[in-house]
Amino acid sequence: MAARDFFHSIQRIGPVQIGTTRNRRTGQTRHAAVCTNDDCGWSADYANRTAAQLAARTHRCRTH
Ligand SMILES: [Zn+2]
Repeated sequence: MAARDFFHSIQRIGPVQIGTTRNRRTGQTRHAAVCTNDDCGWSADYANRTAAQLAARTHRCRTH
């Protein structure tokens, strides 16, 4: 889970963690949502935190 090293301001919604990442090439901040359930492995990134929070709230692990 090396991607976690880039996170800061982590928020947790259910099994999903949201953190902000900065792309070194573009300087853009992205909001990444990552499911911590190893059997799920879902992750996505969004242009703003609201979208990431919405995705986290509506996420359903595919293991169930
Ligand atoms: Zn999941």
